[in-house]
Amino acid sequence: MAQSSAILLSVLLLLPALAVYYLSRKAENNGNGSGADKSVKKEEAGPLPQISPEEFRPFKLTRKEPVSHNTNLYRFALDDPTLPLGLLPGQHIQVRALIDGVEAIKPYTPISLFETKGYFDLLIKTYPQGRISRYMDGVKTGESVLMRGPKGSFQYVPNGCRRIGMIGGGTGITPLLSVCRAVLGHPDDRSPITLIFANKSPEDCLLESELKSLESEFPGRFRVCWTVDLPNEKWDGEIGLVTESMIQAHLPSPSEDCKILICGPPLMMTMVVGELKGLGYPDDKVFRF
Ligand SMILES: Cc1cc2nc3c(=O)[nH]c(=O)nc-3n(C[C@H](O)[C@H](O)[C@H](O)COP(=O)(O)OP(=O)(O)OC[C@H]3O[C@@H](n4cnc5c(N)ncnc54)[C@H](O)[C@@H]3O)c2cc1C
Repeated sequence: MAQSSAILLSVLLLLPALAVYYLSRKAENNGNGSGADKSVKKEEAGPLPQISPEEFRPFKLTRKEPVSHNTNLYRFALDDPTLPLGLLPGQHIQVRALIDGVEAIKPYTPISLFETKGYFDLLIKTYPQGRISRYMDGVKTGESVLMRGPKGSFQYVPNGCRRIGMIGGGTGITPLLSVCRAVLGHPDDRSPITLIFANKSPEDCLLESELKSLESEFPGRFRVCWTVDLPNEKWDGEIGLVTESMIQAHLPSPSEDCKILICGPPLMMTMVVGELKGLGYPDDKVFRF
C-alpha cells in the first residue's frame, strides 16, 4: 500500500515536468523554438532567394564600372544585407524593361559568389543594337532595375558525371563559371572540367583572373583553352572559331559518363551543337544554357 502511494506520488510530481517538456517540443516543431534549433532548420533548407521567381521587383544599382571596352559590371543591393541572392549553380535572373513601349526580357547569370551577402554582380556586354544591354548601359547608380528569378532548368548533381566539358563564347561564360565554382567547390565532387572559351580578341576575354585563379587552385581538375578570332602578337592560345579538332583536342570524348555544357551567341551555339553531334556526343549529354 505504502509502495503504490509512493509510485502515485512520483507520477503526480513528474506530470508538470512532462507537460512542460511536451509543450516546449511542440513550440520548437512549430518554428518557435530556440535560435539554435531554428538555425539548424534554416541551414538544411538553405536561405530563401532574395528575389521572386514570378514577380518583377526593383533592385537598386549601387555600383557600375566598365571592365572592358564594351562591358560593365553592375552591382545591385539586396533588401536584407545579411543574406545572399540565393541562386543555385547555373541559374539566372531575368531583367525586364519597356523599350519604346515594348517589353523586353533577357537572362543574366550573376558573377558574384553564391555566398556573397547583401548584393550581387552582373557582367553585361553592351551590343550596339542590343535592347536590354543598351538599356542597362543607360541605368545610373541609385536607379532601380526590374528583375525576377531564379530561372533556368540546369540542375547540378554532385558527381553526376565523370568528366565535364564546357564551351563558352563571350558573356556566355557567366553560367559556366557559376557551374565551375559549384563543381570545384563541392567537397565530394571530383569531376575534372575542361573549358573552351572563345572570344573575338584578347581584349574581349572576360573574367580572365577568376578563371586563372581557379586553374591554379585546382591544378589537374580545371583547365581553360582560350581561343580568339583576332589575336595580338602576345597571344599564345588557339586562334579562330571553335572547331571539331579543337573539341577533340580539349574536351572529354563522347561517352555515357560525360557532360558538355555550352553557352554563347546564337550563331556559335548552332555551329557548336552541329559539331558535337557530328563528333558523336549523345544529345542528352549536351546542355545548352
Ligand atoms: C542563360 C543565359 C545567361 C546569360 N548571361 C549573360 C551575362 O551574364 N552577361 C551578358 O552580357 N549576357 C548574358 N546573356 C545574353 C543576354 O541574355 C542577352 O542575350 C544579351 O545581353 C543581348 O540582349 P539585348 O536585348 O541587348 O540584345 P537584342 O536586342 O536581343 O539583340 C540585338 C542585336 O545584338 C546582337 N546580339 C544580341 N545578343 C548577342 C549575343 N549573345 N552575342 C552576340 N551578339 C548578340 C545581335 O546582333 C542582335 O541582332 C545570357 C544568356 C543566357 C541564355
